[in-house]
Formats: sequence, structure tokens, C-alpha cells
Amino acid sequence: MTFYTLLRLHKRIKSRKLKLLGLLVASKLGFRHLSVRIDPSLSCNLACRMCNYSSAEYRKKNRGALNTEEFEDIARVLFPRAFQLVVGCAAEPTKHPGYRELFRLARRYKVPDVSMVTNGQLLTREDIDVMCGYGVNEIILSCHGVKKATYEKFMTGAGYEKFHEVLGLIKETRDAGNKLPRLRINYTANRDNLDELKAFFEVFGRYPVDVLQVRPVMDLGGRYGQQFTEADLPKYNEVLSYLEEACRRHGVVFLANRDDAAYREATRDADLAELVYTYISPKTAGQLGISWSNINFRKFRRADRWNSRLIKSFFSKSSGEGWMTRSLKY
Ligand code: SF4
Repeated sequence: MTFYTLLRLHKRIKSRKLKLLGLLVASKLGFRHLSVRIDPSLSCNLACRMCNYSSAEYRKKNRGALNTEEFEDIARVLFPRAFQLVVGCAAEPTKHPGYRELFRLARRYKVPDVSMVTNGQLLTREDIDVMCGYGVNEIILSCHGVKKATYEKFMTGAGYEKFHEVLGLIKETRDAGNKLPRLRINYTANRDNLDELKAFFEVFGRYPVDVLQVRPVMDLGGRYGQQFTEADLPKYNEVLSYLEEACRRHGVVFLANRDDAAYREATRDADLAELVYTYISPKTAGQLGISWSNINFRKFRRADRWNSRLIKSFFSKSSGEGWMTRSLKY
């Protein structure tokens, strides 16, 4: 079962309580029920304008890297319960010299769905071959512009030609008969790069794109924080309808925030998502007061207050405010 199958199931089951109960049962029976998201290093080689990494202050405050021994212990504690591992969440994973070790560990613990989110600028053929060898399911490339000038303007420090080179490497891997890794493009849309999305398949149609996700810009404290307003929505929806149809014709899964591009509403199941998504960064051990070397899953869960959060969610009417309140709007 992949993340996309679970996403469809999640949309089909309307009752929050039923979903929370299912999660509790899966946890008690020792089933895989976590989506583990790891930032092995808190740093990025780029300074994209819409990202908090374009703020010098943010870069200064958010640093550090996990060491390889910690990888082993994190995998021992969490991977047996993970249905999904995503390497890279809020920073660039390829900045860590040993990030590929996480794929080996995921294979050892038989994590069924493994992916990496990256800007791709540091990826080499060898990296892609290693991912292919470990059966990595998906490479998710961030892209903030279809045309060169827009791409390089919003992804400050990135090269458009390098992006195409990486897409070409993935195509070669797939053309060689490998079904994996799938290719997903995450496009952060704003007022200044929305129009050119219509040319997406003209430019990128020759690559084996499996999934396209369009995410409206969110003000994260970066240099560019102009979110869409109500006035932008007709245009936004028109471009997305065009793209949805183009994706259908190209056999590409289309994920998009169609309902709340201005992020006015809280995500209905944010608390549920926060119980499933287990975010690990170099700061996690310090924040939870644990040491990865001498903890097991039961102790991690206690430190993470998972059971009490689940009970609280079960008895509350709304999902409350949390770190995923404005996410998952697709
Ligand atoms: S959006 Fe991604 S690639 Fe761009 S600066 Fe932020 S973490 Fe780096």
C-alpha cells in the first residue's frame, strides 16, 4: 500500500473518530502506521524566495545534522512502525553526506514506501543508481518555475540546466526498464509563476512525471510571502482546471489545493495527520529530552505524548491548531 492509496482511503472515510480508532488499533497491534519524515541536516544549498531559508536569521537559528550512529538508532526505534519514510521535509537532505544510508536502513527494516524530497541540484547519477538499488519508490523534486528565468529567480542559487539534467537522469533510469523511482514534481505556485504552469507539459512532458502537486505559496517568513487573495482565486482555479485536464491526458496524478489557496481554513484532520507524521530532525532528541542510543519505541512514544494526544483528539470536536493546520490541503 502506498501513500497515494492511503490518501484515497483517508478521503473516503469521513468520520474523524473512526480514523482515530483505526490508528489506535493499528498502533496497539504493532502494525505500520507512521509516516516518518526525516531532515538529516538542517541546511539548504539554495535560498528559495518563498522559503524560510531565504531569511538569514532562520538559517542561523536552524542548523545541525544527525550523525550516522543516530540514523541506526532512529531506524531501530521507528522504521518497524513506518509505512512510509520521507527523507527531506523542511530542509535539503542531499546536504548531508551520509543521507543515502537512510535508504539502506529503510530496506533493512522493509519500510514499504520510501521517498526523498529534494531540489535535485546536488544529485548525481550515482545517487540515483543507489536509490534505484535500494528500491526507493519516489523522488520528489521541488520546482518553483516552468521557465528558466522564473525557476532561477524563485529558486535562488539553482540552475535550470541542472534541473533538466536530473530529470534526464531519472528518465534514463526509467527507460532502462526500472519502474522505480517514480517522479513527482512539487510546484509552489504564486501570482508570478502561476501563468506559466499551463506550459508545464510543453517543457517537462518528455520526462516520466508520475505526480504533479501544486501548492499555493504560504507565507513562511521568506523573502517572498505574498499569498493568494480571494481576488486571485478565479485565475488560480482556471489554471488548475487546465492543468488537471492536461494531467489526465498525460496519465499524471494531479494533487492540488483547490479549496483554500489563501489558507483561510484550518485542515480538518490536522491533529490526525500529526499523529501519523513523525518528524525527526537534528533537534528532535533535544526537544523530547531523549537520546536515540538508549530509547525504544515505547519510550519514544511516551516522550512524544502520542497516546495523550490521540485521546485529546478523540474527545475534541475540532482538530485544533498545530504544525499541520495549514498543510495537506489536497
Ligand atoms: S524550498 Fe527547499 S530547496 Fe528551496 S530553500 Fe527551501 S528547503 Fe531549500
